Amino acid sequence: MSEVVSYSIKSGIAVVTVDSPPVNTMTRDVRVGLKKCFEALRGESAKAIVLACAGKTFLSGGDMREFETGVQEPGYHEVLRLIEDSKVPVVAAIHGTAMGGGVETAISCHYRIAAEGARLGLPEITLGIIPGAGGTQRMPRLIGLEPALDMMLGGKPLTAAQARDAGLVDAVVGGDLVEAAVAYGRDLVAKGAGPRRTGDRSVAGGEKVAEVIAARRVKVAKTMRNRNSPNVLLDAVEASVTKKFEDGLAFERTLSNQVERAIEGRAFRHLFFAEREVRKIPGLSADVQPRPLTRIGIIGAGTMGGGIAMCFANAGIPVVILDTAQANLDRGLATVRKNYERSVSRGSLKQEQCDQRLSLITTSLDYNALGTADVIIEAVFENMALKKDIFAKIDAVAKPGAILGTNTSSLDIDEIAAVTKRPQDVIGLHFFSPANVMQLLEIVQASKTAPDVVVTALEIARLIKKTGVIARICYGFIGNRMMEPYGREAEHCVLEGATPEEVDSALESWGMAMGILAVYDMAGVDIGHLMRQTRAHLLPKDPSFCRPSALLTECGWIGQKAGRGYYRYDNPERKRTPDPEANALLHAEGKKLNIAQRKPSRQEIQERCLYAMINEGAQLLDEGIAFRASDIDVVYTAGYGFPRYRGGPMFYADTVGLKVIYDKIMEFQKTLDPQYWQPAPLLKKLALAGSSFAQYQAEQSR
Ligand code: NAD
Repeated sequence: MSEVVSYSIKSGIAVVTVDSPPVNTMTRDVRVGLKKCFEALRGESAKAIVLACAGKTFLSGGDMREFETGVQEPGYHEVLRLIEDSKVPVVAAIHGTAMGGGVETAISCHYRIAAEGARLGLPEITLGIIPGAGGTQRMPRLIGLEPALDMMLGGKPLTAAQARDAGLVDAVVGGDLVEAAVAYGRDLVAKGAGPRRTGDRSVAGGEKVAEVIAARRVKVAKTMRNRNSPNVLLDAVEASVTKKFEDGLAFERTLSNQVERAIEGRAFRHLFFAEREVRKIPGLSADVQPRPLTRIGIIGAGTMGGGIAMCFANAGIPVVILDTAQANLDRGLATVRKNYERSVSRGSLKQEQCDQRLSLITTSLDYNALGTADVIIEAVFENMALKKDIFAKIDAVAKPGAILGTNTSSLDIDEIAAVTKRPQDVIGLHFFSPANVMQLLEIVQASKTAPDVVVTALEIARLIKKTGVIARICYGFIGNRMMEPYGREAEHCVLEGATPEEVDSALESWGMAMGILAVYDMAGVDIGHLMRQTRAHLLPKDPSFCRPSALLTECGWIGQKAGRGYYRYDNPERKRTPDPEANALLHAEGKKLNIAQRKPSRQEIQERCLYAMINEGAQLLDEGIAFRASDIDVVYTAGYGFPRYRGGPMFYADTVGLKVIYDKIMEFQKTLDPQYWQPAPLLKKLALAGSSFAQYQAEQSR
């Protein structure tokens, strides 16, 4: 018998136990073990079988690594069929988080008991695939057509109570789960209740299948734009009604294989692995330990400081915030309170949790209050002289070994570190707005930052449930540096005669969460413009370079905060609406600059913006600003609204083909301004060699 799955029989009830730490993933070993046990139990006298798991969870899900290798024998279907075909009732005892293959196994059992606190989900759609181990055929039979669609299209797990209400589990129990499941099995035997095969049921609500599926198709076309797997899921679920169970299973298998191989499925898996890879620092010895993280100091109670304080309070870590005046602290704290209270009123946070989190945030006007902090994060105005002044003050009060972080989005951290006597402790901790919501933390390793400080920064990201990606010093680090050429092209298209709406809708229809010009309006058109002014000596001597943002700033049309920018926001919902006046102004400016007036096509807008971004990505990869192409993909999907189903800019570039992108850049060199269309040497090299960023990454990591 396999080590990871075993069974014992007590008073006529068999208990099959999976014990495969850490989370009972359905690896091949687990499947082999389940197969052996259920085969062996056919020859035993047990009257009922309980399937349970040791450790912190029931079978947590399928083995992601098998997507690359192909599923090894025995496959899911073979094992689940063996369970479903058991001659005696099988009761799943579910605790922890059962997802995907774990839930598909549970619904192949005849009865289900869940522990309070258990969660059950079929999240495959969030990975661009569909449940492929019978989930699309069994779940509708178990809980009905619409609830099954909600569960599979939503991808969110149900709580034990929700699962019971839906009919997914038969009972929710407190106390010892396995004992309760054994008692449940014994009851079944006493009542003479035999196996209750999910596959034998019919689908509640199935009579309306055509209408329901058609309505869902309309909905996913809107809410899951450009995605294919939701439509494939609908095909599979429709088959749970229109086909016999066995035929439905075969159909599901064909569809499941298709979506696994498709770009969308590969893109999500790429990100799944990329998000784990970011923690690996090339060349760093494994024994570098993080420094302690028990108390945090923040300087600046503004937009970012308040949001960052919330991140730590949410993780149960005390924070002290410092600002220049009590009024600033009061205003900052009031915003934090308002944010928490909104969560309470929405029901996503309990009042006690709100109170507890607020109690972790204290304020001070005195630098000495930072003396006990393990990490101090500066989030004051983006001004080098001010930041230097503050770092000198922090240096004077911080305890030895404290980490000194800056949230700057553009300034040279080496220059900031140089004013301290401890540049090895200085690091960039670049949060994104709103800091309590955005997933990304860009960790900027300056020239002298010590390895254990970088490791601690990764630990900070883990503690506050963010994705930390390491970047090296350059203007804009990874994310903002790649935004510059992307935005440059968007702005130029406007000078050529496209409206902001045309540019943004081209980018949004392609999949970006928000068009770049609308992003400027949201963040403040003046912010980028002012940053460019401070580094004008480094920028192209081209009067058209980002001229639209400069012009709007000159007019005071600086975006949402002014009620107008690239768009107007003067309606009650503050929704963006086209502004004919701004359009006319920008187009007149284009003519004044002697830019030939034309309407770039949607495809041209997309190619110019995205290929400019990808080319910059190749350049910074070559410079070692990012360790890996996949790190860039994580930055963009976690922090810049890049569609996950396209896998990030570098993965996307590989799917287009680097040679195609290179050729297009060479074409733009002829048709557009050649100074901006120089292929990055790395892009050129890989394109001409028929290689890809993925291949380059694999070679680099060897
Ligand atoms: P903000 O204007 O909202 O807040 C700045 C705060 O710093 C204010 O409360 C101000 O009173 C305080 N402050 C100013 N001088 C101070 C001093 N000498 N001592 C103590 N406190 C002082 O600014 P923000 O948007 O929170 O930006 C802060 C930093 O974060 C900047 O470096 C910015 O570039 C960076 N950043 C901002 C965003 C964003 O989207 N807002 C995103 C990423 C990074």
